[in-house]
Amino acid sequence: ARVPTRTNRDDRYFTDVYQAMPKQGFTKMFEKMLDSPNIKILLNCDYREIVKQIQFREMIYTGPIDSFFDYQYGKLPYRSLEFKHETHDTETFQPAPVVNYPNDQPYTRVTEFKYLTGQEHKKTSVVYEYPRATGDPYYPIPRKENGKVYDKYKMLADACPDVHFVGRLATYKYYNMDQIVAQALTVYGKIAGMKRIEAGAATAATAATAAINRKFPLNGNYSSNGNGTTNSEIASAI
Ligand SMILES: Cc1cc2nc3c(=O)[nH]c(=O)nc-3n(C[C@H](O)[C@H](O)[C@H](O)COP(=O)(O)OP(=O)(O)OC[C@H]3O[C@@H](n4cnc5c(N)ncnc54)[C@H](O)[C@@H]3O)c2cc1C
Repeated sequence: ARVPTRTNRDDRYFTDVYQAMPKQGFTKMFEKMLDSPNIKILLNCDYREIVKQIQFREMIYTGPIDSFFDYQYGKLPYRSLEFKHETHDTETFQPAPVVNYPNDQPYTRVTEFKYLTGQEHKKTSVVYEYPRATGDPYYPIPRKENGKVYDKYKMLADACPDVHFVGRLATYKYYNMDQIVAQALTVYGKIAGMKRIEAGAATAATAATAAINRKFPLNGNYSSNGNGTTNSEIASAI
């Protein structure tokens, strides 16, 4: 269930034994992960716009699987969200980082991020999440009939040995970030002929992307990430 019931006073969002935030935040972490002359980032660009200009032996595809195959078996449905951001002139807004509203409100949860990051400030920012049927694809809908459609796309995917379908959209399954990192390392290990544990030890979570880009660099005059941008859309899609 998305909203677990607890019988203790643990008010953390997740109950994993080991939980951490990057020391300097996620932005810095991704900037460092992408800071390589071998990684080039192209933003706001569908991979289809550039795929013909780039020579590759293996592609890592993180987009929706139905889109990859031109929706030939129909569109896989997703649940989406609309986010409403608010800043309040108060140090804290709610008693916990995430408060769920499963009943009468039009929004389903409110997140107050400073609890998660440990930020100290006299104001606070919160985000309301409104469930939507359309919009960016966030949550696959795990129904039997959708599973059957996915299975058909999976058969097409299995027939493309040079494309690795990785992540939530490409495998039509909801994963948390730790699971996605594990999946990425497994795929990288497979490509590089290593076991996942070796892949994890040898490299950071984006190693798969970095390695592919190193082996098969983009051939255009695309700008690198020297400006410190953090969007990894293309880096993760190719
Ligand atoms: C509201 C919300 C809250 C969440 N909270 C948590 C949390 O607290 N903890 C946690 O562990 N996980 C959380 N998750 C889940 C987490 O976001 C996912 O596990 C993670 O983002 C999945 O990574 P991914 O690489 O599979 O997919 P994504 O992060 O969706 O990455 C896919 C990438 O592919 C790009 N792409 C897609 N199609 C194309 C195309 N045609 N051409 C080029 N690029 C393309 C997209 O732009 C995107 O950058 C949350 C998810 C949501 C929606």
